[in-house]
Amino acid sequence: MIKIHSIETLGALDGPGIRTVVFFSGCPMRCLYCHNPDTWQGGELRDETELAEMCTRYKAYYGKEGGVTLSGGEPLMQSAGAVKLLKELKTRGINTAIDTGGGVYLPEALELADLTILDIKHPDPVKFREITGAGQDSLIKTLEYLRSHGKKFWVRHVCVPGITDTVQTVAEVKRMAAGAEKIELLPYHTMGVHKWEKLGLKYSLAGVPPLSEEKLRELNLSL
Ligand code: SF4
Repeated sequence: MIKIHSIETLGALDGPGIRTVVFFSGCPMRCLYCHNPDTWQGGELRDETELAEMCTRYKAYYGKEGGVTLSGGEPLMQSAGAVKLLKELKTRGINTAIDTGGGVYLPEALELADLTILDIKHPDPVKFREITGAGQDSLIKTLEYLRSHGKKFWVRHVCVPGITDTVQTVAEVKRMAAGAEKIELLPYHTMGVHKWEKLGLKYSLAGVPPLSEEKLRELNLSL
């Protein structure tokens, strides 16, 4: 069984093509700018086979590139459920992707998925801990596994003004991402702040503005 926060059908942002995105509950990290803090707790228990069957109902929309993305929260935290769901989807011929913050190292899942989308919050271990409250061990092991096994992966990096938006930080992310098929720089936004307030949590980045389009362009040019 998997504790699920929500399911989005026909999503176009979390991996290639049209995808069903399964948002798992729970995360071992506590990123300062998390836009899904509502996934940290709670959730509804769902059976993996039933979930796979539900996802299969949309198979006609997935086309050549689309499929199912396991996201969250941290989808690899519920390790047995994540592996079982990936296997169930694979037997149904559905393309799978994992959208992970690198907070859990789970080689069995990395092996099964057709694509891993790995978020590098910060290349520096000290700053990484300041942002996420966690260490980089799992992230480093995940990168090593993906590279050494020739697995397809993308790297994402959220550019937060004054924290993770320097050319130097982006260059370090690029170095860490060696072997990635694609590197995506995402602009920091404040659209998730209301969720923190609703949960009664203090948002420590209050006052930090969204990243400007101009700055994002500059950083993309430096890649
Ligand atoms: S890894 Fe993702 S879900 Fe977990 S705290 Fe960070 S941003 Fe939020």
